[in-house]
Amino acid sequence: MSDQSQLEEFFKFQQGIIDEFRANEGKVGGMFEVYPLHPHHDGGAPRPAPHPAPRTDAGRRRGPSRRLGGRRTEAAMVQAGRHEAPLRHPGGELVLRQVADGVLVHESEFLQSNTIVVQGRDGVLLIDPGLQDHELACLATDLSASDRTVVAGFSTHPDWDHLLWHAQLGEAPRYGTARCAAAAREQLSDPDTKAHITDHLAETEIAGKVSLDLYGFVTALPVGTARIPWDGPGVRIIEHQAHAPGHAALFVEERGVLVAGDMLSDVLVPMLDLDGAADPIEDYLAALRQLEGVAADVDVVVPGHGSVCGAGQVHERIERDRAYVLALRDGREPGDPRIGPSAKPGWEWVSDVHHGQARALAGD
Ligand SMILES: [Zn+2]
Repeated sequence: MSDQSQLEEFFKFQQGIIDEFRANEGKVGGMFEVYPLHPHHDGGAPRPAPHPAPRTDAGRRRGPSRRLGGRRTEAAMVQAGRHEAPLRHPGGELVLRQVADGVLVHESEFLQSNTIVVQGRDGVLLIDPGLQDHELACLATDLSASDRTVVAGFSTHPDWDHLLWHAQLGEAPRYGTARCAAAAREQLSDPDTKAHITDHLAETEIAGKVSLDLYGFVTALPVGTARIPWDGPGVRIIEHQAHAPGHAALFVEERGVLVAGDMLSDVLVPMLDLDGAADPIEDYLAALRQLEGVAADVDVVVPGHGSVCGAGQVHERIERDRAYVLALRDGREPGDPRIGPSAKPGWEWVSDVHHGQARALAGD
């Protein structure tokens, strides 16, 4: 949508939908009549921000509850309706934002968790769907309203916030690397896993809002699988051992989109796999070198949590993560903007993550 008159047309159209929605007590008519459209964000009200990973203790527990600053509503669009007309949800917030041709991102109101939708020939690939139950239901509704069937899923790694699913998303295979699937299986074999996650979330603002019914059903891809087996643009699997066992970044080659999993974030420092890995520092550095290997072809980076960035910031994000890990290795205090007073409002607890990691590596 490049030319001005098209844009004006779009905004007029969108405003019409919103006005109609309001006048009609939350229902829309016209060509969207059959689609239930509903706002699912509350407009960036302050809320406590907990830590995403309850997997282990060292450096992974959040600090005291903090409040997110009023996160600005992003003016982005959702593609919905059979005519592919772009629109936002009435109420103003986006559901899906296009970041590249055929690649859409949904950002959860919880920890800026990103769900990625890649358009294939007969349906979509859904990467790390999250996070609250109503957000997933909303996502499922919007996908089906725009005739997008989910034909495959992928979990970048076996942390709880990347192993979620919703019944309305259907029964497509949910892939992960063999090590990711094994870790997910191990979690499921422990009868306390779900209670542990629920307990962790009990102290957050999303207590009771995350469904674990379909948690962790990951289909293992054979070791060494190079690409996601599906009918769509080639999605290269970049497996490494940073952050979590069997962690994989995905590179949607034809679209230039790097889905980084829990790396290359503008808000979270590298979180090392301090329990599982023999050499968590070197594993992380090796993973960064792998991402660097594709960086020249990357136009867009989508981190698991945080802001999407363009080609201009790819190297910067890699370097920032590397500098952090090297400082950690050398026992230096990293001059990292994601911790200390320069942390983004609501993300002050990332400093606690850092101190926990530093202590753990120092053997305390
Ligand atoms: Zn995560």
